[in-house]
Amino acid sequence: MSDFDHNKNLAESYLQRFKTNVTGHFINGKWTSTDNVKTFENLTPIDNSSLGQVVEGTIADIDNACEAADAAFAEWRATPGAERKKILNKLADKIVDRAEEIALVESADCGQPIRFMKQAAVRGAANFRFFADKAAEAANGQALYQQEHTNLTMRTPIGPVGVITPWNTPFMLSTWKIAPALAAGCTIVHKPAEFSPLSAVILAEASKEAGLPDGVWNMVNGFGEVAGKRLTEHPAIKAVAFVGESSTGSMIMNQGAATLKRTHFELGGKNPIIVFDDADFDRALDATVFMLYSLNGQRCTSSSRLLIQSSIQDKFLSALEARVRSLKVGHPLDPNTEVGPLVHGSHYRKVMSYMDIAKQDGATIAVGGEHYRDGIVSDKGNYVQPTLFTNANNSMTVAREEIFGPVLTTISFDTEADAIRIANDSDYGLAAYAWTNDQGRAMRLAHAIETGMLWVNSENNRNLPSPFGGIKMSGIGRDGGDYSFDFYMETKNVCFAHGTHSVPKIGKL
Ligand code: NAD
Repeated sequence: MSDFDHNKNLAESYLQRFKTNVTGHFINGKWTSTDNVKTFENLTPIDNSSLGQVVEGTIADIDNACEAADAAFAEWRATPGAERKKILNKLADKIVDRAEEIALVESADCGQPIRFMKQAAVRGAANFRFFADKAAEAANGQALYQQEHTNLTMRTPIGPVGVITPWNTPFMLSTWKIAPALAAGCTIVHKPAEFSPLSAVILAEASKEAGLPDGVWNMVNGFGEVAGKRLTEHPAIKAVAFVGESSTGSMIMNQGAATLKRTHFELGGKNPIIVFDDADFDRALDATVFMLYSLNGQRCTSSSRLLIQSSIQDKFLSALEARVRSLKVGHPLDPNTEVGPLVHGSHYRKVMSYMDIAKQDGATIAVGGEHYRDGIVSDKGNYVQPTLFTNANNSMTVAREEIFGPVLTTISFDTEADAIRIANDSDYGLAAYAWTNDQGRAMRLAHAIETGMLWVNSENNRNLPSPFGGIKMSGIGRDGGDYSFDFYMETKNVCFAHGTHSVPKIGKL
């Protein structure tokens, strides 16, 4: 049996339970009843067939989950860091035990090729282990001395946290938020995206198997405008960790205003990759192709604007065209597939609409631009040909809006100053990539480019202690290492007098 057939058979066996049972919410350590509830259908992007019904969370459901998280908070925050560490490491073990299942289910649910999804569980487990190790020290602060006083800072968990995640790499992204929140001593209510709800079920199950007390981890399904909205409004929820579109972030800020929610936003991007003529040509080409077309272009840090120096433009673009033409589009469970189907019909239509927009704006569709058809994939699936726009400029819609598909817009520049100006001429500021062998230039770019993260001569490389996040419309706040704890915890200052200072006296006769 081929690896592809093996994957399909195994995926089918894991998906069966979702197809035959309605997926409910996980509240206070139990799966909620799915009798007489309103549901929505979860479709696979492979051929838009059904992967089963999912409960559409109501305001009452979300309230129950928030109340459970609130009730569990006192005990969890009081649980010693060493004990939280033990449980979170056990949770990581459970994830590793189910790594194959997670990869196959996620791949079928959101269309990301299995070759990339194999890492999802491993990276998710690594997130839990990383923050588990820091659970005991998260509360530590500083001692700040004055002549007659000593100040001590300490951190305490902020309270129940709402975690709202998108569909592009749902498993991994959820663990990025949930792991530090739990390590800090917060309880959580997680709402996964309605387009890809399945791996969140496995995560919730693993939390139970690992021995997390009831109510510490709650998971609710449903739509953003009802379930997500209520989660951001509930008074018991003290902070909202959100990953998704910039416009949704803006709505969440409004929704949380009445209860003064602390918010952490990881939003969209239109990330430039700047290739200078002194760069290592082959490595820059590999990175350009990888950072846009892997994960179907559905990646917040995708290098969706290629800024190419005019002196190497022809050579680079012709090599790039050849690479884009030979990308292997196919069924996401086929280990050879490099580009799979887009998550949902509505997203597929959004991505396809940019093909006409590009033409109207005067860009050239050098490669792709059509629905991908081939005998090996179902014509009913959400497959888009890997697409390359050339002859674009930075004022075109395809250079300004996040397309979030396998579509790359290329723009040429002459000088370093031009490159910086074009890179910064964007509403977004999540990630940027610079390819040059001139170290002085790399340093100048590091200072000049408006971005939360810059990679020099590299594709996106994640280091868990490093800050991850964006500026401008790409986000507020940082994930990673201690930056995460700053979000999930409050800092308290305690000031001790040494008994020597004079206390002001008023009202004394
Ligand atoms: P989305 O904003 O449509 O949805 C994300 C989540 O928000 C979903 O769970 C949805 O149900 C919920 N939601 C929608 N409306 C809501 C509301 N009014 N109140 C509360 N919750 C609401 O995003 P998406 O289409 O699922 O994901 C793609 C987007 O995510 C892209 O813009 C991408 O760049 C971004 N993203 C950013 C990062 C990052 O780290 N910066 C990482 C991954 C994805």
